[in-house]
Amino acid sequence: MCIFCKIIKAEIPSKKVLENSDFLAFEDINPQAPIHILIIPKVHYESFETSPSEVISKMSDFIKAVAKEIKVNENGYRLVTNIGENSGQEVKHLHFHLIAGAKLKWGNFI
Ligand code: 5GP
Ligand code: ZN
Repeated sequence: MCIFCKIIKAEIPSKKVLENSDFLAFEDINPQAPIHILIIPKVHYESFETSPSEVISKMSDFIKAVAKEIKVNENGYRLVTNIGENSGQEVKHLHFHLIAGAKLKWGNFI
């Protein structure tokens, strides 16, 4: 079972931010900004590329609810999802990184 499926089953502890029957938001263990939250579906899909559109659609509503919950919806935030080897995706369970809490820079990717 993948590490995020274990987090969903509470076999690995996490700091939960928001949850409903389909999705979970929790704090990234290695934050890259003052706010760094991971948002995952409770059903395992490998990445954005292999996830059904209906899941992505419902997930966007949940992500907006998370942004509102932590009050970054007005000042702004960044969403990132890594897909496959060239992106550096480490955990093969669809997740969006919600990054916020500072004026974010746009980095060099290569
Ligand atoms: P990826 O590189 O796959 O897009 O991102 C995986 C993310 O999962 C990384 O930002 C990493 O810090 C985070 N992560 C890996 N293992 C754990 C864990 O056990 N708990 C939490 N909260 N985050 C994790
Ligand atoms: Zn999984």
